[in-house]
Amino acid sequence: MEKIIDGKAIAARMRQTIADDVAQLTARGTTPGLAVVLVGEDPASRVYVSMKEKACAQAGIYSDEHKLPAETSEAQLLSLIDELNSNERIDGILVQLPLPEHIDEAKVLEAISPAKDVDGFHPYNVGRLVTGNPLFQPCTPYGIMKMLEYSGVDLTGKEVVVVGRSNIVGKPVALMCLAKHATVTLCHSRTKGLADTVRRADVVIAAVGRPEMVKGDWIKEGAVVIDVGVNRVGEKKLVGDVEFEAARQRASAITPVPGGVGPMTITMLLYNTVEGAKRRDASK
Ligand code: NDP
Repeated sequence: MEKIIDGKAIAARMRQTIADDVAQLTARGTTPGLAVVLVGEDPASRVYVSMKEKACAQAGIYSDEHKLPAETSEAQLLSLIDELNSNERIDGILVQLPLPEHIDEAKVLEAISPAKDVDGFHPYNVGRLVTGNPLFQPCTPYGIMKMLEYSGVDLTGKEVVVVGRSNIVGKPVALMCLAKHATVTLCHSRTKGLADTVRRADVVIAAVGRPEMVKGDWIKEGAVVIDVGVNRVGEKKLVGDVEFEAARQRASAITPVPGGVGPMTITMLLYNTVEGAKRRDASK
């Protein structure tokens, strides 16, 4: 196993397979389609949306962009989602979060058809994940699972410690590891004795959003470390949630920041869109 888990390289390999699948589907008359909806002018959201559009173009996926003004009403947004739900060219609908305050995020996410919910945030898809019969799985945790798989990490019987219990990363990744037969501990801000809990882990997954809070000496010798955190320190530097240099001395494998989990997230969005298109093609 490579010591540094190279998310960029794994993502590039996956994107090649995705592009091949897209070409095959397109030849059968089922070009995968992703609708991306952005409400407002949030600069970070604009960057994410343009990255997603570019990635779709590179893979040959049809992307349908909807850039709406910040004053768009909830009713207008819901009616667009309704249209996209019944649009036959669209396999995936992505509403970029966060939404402006006057729009109820949960209501919008629940309006997306579960069959087009490529972000995997609809309660139906969350329920499918909990019951061990997933349909669409959320992109960041799913990307983590692919990285572990590509790196040859078998989770059966392993102690996995997840730090962070958000709905988009911590909770779903814990469920995914459980489905792979790991023994999972899910930690959060009220966890007592966090350092000692992490010290037990064969696999540590840190998704906290606090620069280098998981210390190198918390890492068991030979553990695998997945660092989801993206924290800006100073003008330009990005660091993860794990003290990388110290942790890599003890880990058998570790993801860097940047270049680890980050590149996998958009890749999994493309992957999910293609999975949706395959289901559409099969039901023709
Ligand atoms: P959230 O802020 O939603 O969740 C953070 C979690 O960390 C919470 O569950 C919180 O606990 C827990 N936490 C906070 N402080 C501590 C502490 N001192 N000890 C233990 N647990 C603590 O973050 P996200 O899950 O959305 O994101 C986590 C990180 O991952 C961020 O840096 C984010 O930028 C990054 N990220 C990266 C992605 C990528 O593609 N690479 C995608 C998504 C996120 P509690 O619930 O008790 O408050």
